[in-house]
Amino acid sequence: MSLMKHLRFTVICISALLLGLLSTQHTGATTPSEPAVRNIIFMVGDGMGFAHLTAFLLNKQNRPIAMERAQATGFVRTHSANNRVTDSAAASTALATGHKTKNRSISVDTLGHPLETILEKAQQQAMGTGLVVTCDITDATPAGFYAHTPSRYESEQIAAQLVDSKVDVWIGAGGKHFDRRSDGRNLLEEFRAKGYTLITDTTALDRVHAGRVAAPMAQGSNMPWHPERGDYLPKATAKTLELLAQQSDSTKQGFFLLIEGSRIDHAAHKNDLKQILEEMCDFDHAVGIAMDFADQNPGTLVIIVADHETGGLTINSNSDVHEETGDKSLAYRFSTGDHTGCLVPLMAYGTGASRFGHLLDNTQIHDLLCQLAGLEQ
Ligand SMILES: [Zn+2]
Repeated sequence: MSLMKHLRFTVICISALLLGLLSTQHTGATTPSEPAVRNIIFMVGDGMGFAHLTAFLLNKQNRPIAMERAQATGFVRTHSANNRVTDSAAASTALATGHKTKNRSISVDTLGHPLETILEKAQQQAMGTGLVVTCDITDATPAGFYAHTPSRYESEQIAAQLVDSKVDVWIGAGGKHFDRRSDGRNLLEEFRAKGYTLITDTTALDRVHAGRVAAPMAQGSNMPWHPERGDYLPKATAKTLELLAQQSDSTKQGFFLLIEGSRIDHAAHKNDLKQILEEMCDFDHAVGIAMDFADQNPGTLVIIVADHETGGLTINSNSDVHEETGDKSLAYRFSTGDHTGCLVPLMAYGTGASRFGHLLDNTQIHDLLCQLAGLEQ
């Protein structure tokens, strides 16, 4: 090979090597200018369809809401493995594991075999984990992230699985499944023995600033409706973010946090639009807190999504059915007291948000999150 040819060959080889290196960088989870996703705040508005969001926007009379800050918006298909209309159990399984399953199943496949959840995958990567809900902590949506059972109604079994799950912070209702059990176990004592701080009211939340927290805030199946429950959800959201961020600085590497506005669905089952709007207003406050956290902590991704639509809600002309829903009248109709198979909205904010601006299947959200946070799919 002549000197010139040799030089040209060397230049081509070096160029190819550099291109290879550059393209390897591009296979990373986020764009080169973006940091990797370190914290995932996964927010579920249970039953919150497009008409619920529309009614919320109309009712707010153009005042800004937190969800409008979303940097990417998408549409999500929600059907389960055995029904066009999913329940919260199969929907939670799809969101948590990336797999379709049958209605009623909690993070097991259609044959009943356990499916690993994104929360469990996060724990394996030394990430902190948390759950904040306004329903029973053993209810389908939160359970889908830490439990595995073919029946969502096995509340005592699901509560026992929460003890084994090593979730760092959990705040919700359903205390009765922990200390008034048919097997005589006192799971709250078991949490205490594992070093958790036990908290049973919102004022006590102010006094905890570190460590693991188990917080059954109500014995019954749900927190009271908003506004009776006060600022519980925004407050529990802010506190859990504080605790997980604090852990993240010392022992953990980032976190996965599930926050659910659980009672949007309950109000929609009752076809009670006024209560839906109350629950959404409360959920939106929590969304704002999560987005502010993302602003202050680069590498945080906030996903806001519904698990399914509830009520078959639509907005009508004002000459039709007419009812006061606050300071502005709104005409609307519900077509069912159950869930529907309609697409639901997704909103994303923070690092990696642009990856979610598509029509997605609910199983794809898990896959994208795993990619972005470097978790095993
Ligand atoms: Zn429901």
